[in-house]
Parts: sequence; structure tokens; C-alpha cells
Amino acid sequence: MVKETGYYDLLGVKPEATENELKKAYRKLALKYHPDRNPEDPEKFKQISQAYEVLSDSKKRDLYDRGGDQAIKEGGTGEGHFSSPMDIFDMFFGGGGGGGGGRRERKGKDVIHQLSVTLEEMYNASVRKLALQKNVVCEKCEGKGGKKGAVEKCPICRGTGVQVQIHQLGPGMVQQIQSVCRSCEGQGERINEKDRCKTCSGKKIVRERKILEVHVDKGMKDGQKIFFRGEGDQEPGLEPGDIIIIIDEKEHPIYKRQGNDLLIKMEIKLVEALCGFQKVLKTLDNRELLIISHAGDVVKHDELKCILNEGMPFYKNPYEKGRLIIRFNVIFPSDGFVPLDKLKELESLLPEREEPIPDENAEEVDLVSFDPSTYRQKASHNHAYNEDDDMGGRRVQCQSH
Ligand SMILES: [Zn+2]
Ligand SMILES: [Zn+2]
Repeated sequence: MVKETGYYDLLGVKPEATENELKKAYRKLALKYHPDRNPEDPEKFKQISQAYEVLSDSKKRDLYDRGGDQAIKEGGTGEGHFSSPMDIFDMFFGGGGGGGGGRRERKGKDVIHQLSVTLEEMYNASVRKLALQKNVVCEKCEGKGGKKGAVEKCPICRGTGVQVQIHQLGPGMVQQIQSVCRSCEGQGERINEKDRCKTCSGKKIVRERKILEVHVDKGMKDGQKIFFRGEGDQEPGLEPGDIIIIIDEKEHPIYKRQGNDLLIKMEIKLVEALCGFQKVLKTLDNRELLIISHAGDVVKHDELKCILNEGMPFYKNPYEKGRLIIRFNVIFPSDGFVPLDKLKELESLLPEREEPIPDENAEEVDLVSFDPSTYRQKASHNHAYNEDDDMGGRRVQCQSH
């Protein structure tokens, strides 16, 4: 059991979450709260990346599970030092064109967009149209912001883009405060109002709506990236960034995906488990499969069986497919389903039972129903210690006849 769930709560996952579930949760939230999209709440973006930084590292996650926030802050692995949220983001999304810090400087921003895709679309392939907003260099002024020669150095900051204020705090003590130049907004240059380009109001770039055709190929996976090189934000004098589309797999009501395999649960009745059955199942491309368990084959409760080549198609090799794995849930009949005198008939058909030989002092006891949910709820509320005594009594609801 984990000590605290704070980091898990931030990412909206359970403490048992798998690595994939953590990745998916971070991906969703990081894109939502990225300062480009959500400038009002930079703190949230930071918290999410810290939570992910800890939970995505098995050593730190283990430390957190055992000792909570305090253990992380106090030490061991990282001495409570967190990477910058932007670094975590760039590392995760692989933006910046190959991750080289130097290269990042010479490129416009990548536009990252998540695309929600159904399992059917990844099974059959599909083309999705996506409307995006991006920055393009203003054509009217060719990215200059105004007429030729209209651009001059900002007189306030002398072209540095930074304003420095000096405060005298006391004798011999000065404080320097640096801030972005308000006159030129950090650009270091200025264009007279009357010479400014009307199209971009001197900003050199304009927003443009772009319709993308995204090809979702057979067998693509959750988290997979589709790159549109050079289609991202443009900035004058820089190589344009990329548009990166990230596939976000929607949950399917029946099929669960595990790599290239598909998993389903199937309920069968006891009579079907013992005497065979036929079931019809709709595939993701709308065919019908007739699943047959032959007379004489016994399917046990919780047993796994699979159908070859009915899983997901392999990416780039779609004629090959994974397996369809079925977990069987055998529904037993309820008490008294057959009159007592008929039970002997049933018994005569079943494998023989073994009669025990009890000790002469053996005590005869009755079986009653047990509802495990009453116990689990209590345990998860951190009261495990003092509830122990109650196990046999109040907490466990026993039905008596
Ligand atoms: Zn312009
Ligand atoms: Zn300035």
C-alpha cells in the first residue's frame, strides 16, 4: 500500500497504474496545461511534470510509495531536485527536432497536437482531417514587420530587449532588477507606428488556419507520433518547426488492446462450459466470428483461450495480426437450480468425488457467504491497524440462515 497518493492524484491515475497508463495521463495533461495553451496556470504544469518525473522513474516511484512527498524531498535519488517542466516535456514529446539544445534555437516551435483515435480506426486505417492554428511569417512585409529601413534599434533598451533598474537599498548596497523591455516587448527593435505592416501590425508573423490530413495507418499504437516536418510555427530567419500529431487511443467497450493482441471477456453458462457452445463476436472490421467450443471440451472459469490472427494488424505489416485472447467467465447456476432428488442424476454424470475421512473429534461447521468489499473498503482508508480486531465480527457481514 502506498503512503500518499498526491502525485497519482495529480495525474489522475490509481497507485497501481502501469507505466503506459502514467505516460498516457501525463501526455494528456501536459498538452492541456502547457504554458502555450494555458498561460494562466503555470503552477499546474509544473506540478504535473514533477509528479511524472517521480512516478516514471521506478526507483523514485518506489521511494515515494514508501515515504511519500517527504522522502522525495529529503533525498536519496535526486535530493528533491526536479528538472524544469519544459525539459521533461521536450524529453517526453521529443520536440525540438532531435533534442539537440543548439538546434532548438534555430527552429520555430513545434506544434504538438493529440488526436483521439478509436480502435476501429487503428484496425482498419483511416484519414482524419484536423484544423490547426500556427504562426506563419507575414508575406506582406516578408517578416520584416514594416517598410524597408523602418526598423530601428529600441532606444529604451538600446537593442538588448532588457531593461535594468538599479535600486539603492542602503549605503554601498544596490539591487539590480532585470526585466523585459516594455517598449519593444523584448524584441530590441522598434518600428514607427506609421511604418508598421498593416497585415501583421509589425509582429512579423500572422496566425494561420491549417487543415491537415492525418493518415492513421493500420496497427498504429497509442502514443505514436506522426511528424509533419517543417509544418510547425514559422519565425523570421528560423527554420520552421514541425507539427507532431500524437495518437491517443480511445478505450473500447469490448476490446482491450495489449500490444498487438486484443483481449475480451466472455461469459458462458456452466452448461456451455461443460457441454460446448457457439458464440458470435463482431470484429473491429465488422465481420462476425463464430466461436466454437466443441462438445467434450471443458472451459474452466477464468481460463484463457486465444484465436490466432484475429488481434490487431502489425504496423507496416498489416497482413500479419496478433491474437484475440478470450478470458472466460463461467456463470454458475444459483442455489436450488435443480430439485434435490435430481441432484443424484447430475452427480452420476460428473467425475467421482473423494470422501474425506475425518478425525473423530472433527467439528462440523457451516459455510456462509462472505462479502470481500466490506473488508477492502476499510483497509484502503489507512485504518488497517485497529480494524484488525473487527475482522471476525462486525466488519464482515455474515449471512446466517
Ligand atoms: Zn507584416
Ligand atoms: Zn526595448
